Amino acid sequence: MDSSLTQTPREKLEAWLRYYDDLNLGAFYTDRRTMGKRPIKRAVENAPAALPVTRAPIASPPLPPKTVPPVSVLPLVNATSLFEALDHVEGDTLERIREDLGDCTRCRLHKQRNKIVFGQGNPRAELVFVGEGPGHDEDVQGLAFVGRAGKLLTQMIEAMGLTREQVYICNVVKCRPPENRKPEDDEVATCSPYLFRQLDVIAPKAIVCLGLTAAQALLKTKDSISRFRGEWFDYRGTKLLATYHPAYLLRNPNAKGEVWKDLQKVMAHLGLQPKKSSR
Ligand code: URA
Repeated sequence: MDSSLTQTPREKLEAWLRYYDDLNLGAFYTDRRTMGKRPIKRAVENAPAALPVTRAPIASPPLPPKTVPPVSVLPLVNATSLFEALDHVEGDTLERIREDLGDCTRCRLHKQRNKIVFGQGNPRAELVFVGEGPGHDEDVQGLAFVGRAGKLLTQMIEAMGLTREQVYICNVVKCRPPENRKPEDDEVATCSPYLFRQLDVIAPKAIVCLGLTAAQALLKTKDSISRFRGEWFDYRGTKLLATYHPAYLLRNPNAKGEVWKDLQKVMAHLGLQPKKSSR
């Protein structure tokens, strides 16, 4: 006889959980204690009414001792898709994300890096800049955008009437790609969940992607930057705009005008006035 006909509900549940485990979906069910406790994030508030995530109530088996879940064990919470839910950690903080990252060896970029560049700035920033990955100076100092491109970024931020301390600055990958090459797709895939968690915790009003890699990673597209530069997009309920990378502007100063127009859109959204010239 089919054994599923004689199983108790608990045995059936356990069989399903083993099945999910075999599918490597452990994170899907590991920490059900937290489900539904957190207020729904903006991304969900703005989600179309047709896309609510509904979960069937399931009986709770005995709970394991309370520990901080490692990055691979992410509780399911309300989100517009299972994949977004897997990037969301209940009660997350920047400190915890940094701890989860640890002395990361998850991709090949760790082999030649000097320092992990996690990102820095105001943890409650209304504006987050996302670059591609650390360069030489960032790798040495462990800080994002501190080289030549970083100096130009500082000027851009100040022209917006802000300071670096008021915004948050980070990258898609946290380790310097050798010879400043573009990060490979698998490196981006490995590292970007930490970026998604950073953005989730900071919950800014606007995200500015500096260059193609950041825009592609957050918008999950392979389109070229000309397809979306200067336009507003939705990133999980937060407005996102992509503009040229400051390193590109160093090579192509004529594009600065276009970037300034993009930044003015961001300023309008944030209610910022441009910095008054001191001259
Ligand atoms: N370029 C980036 O994309 N990020 C940095 O932190 C520095 C340069």
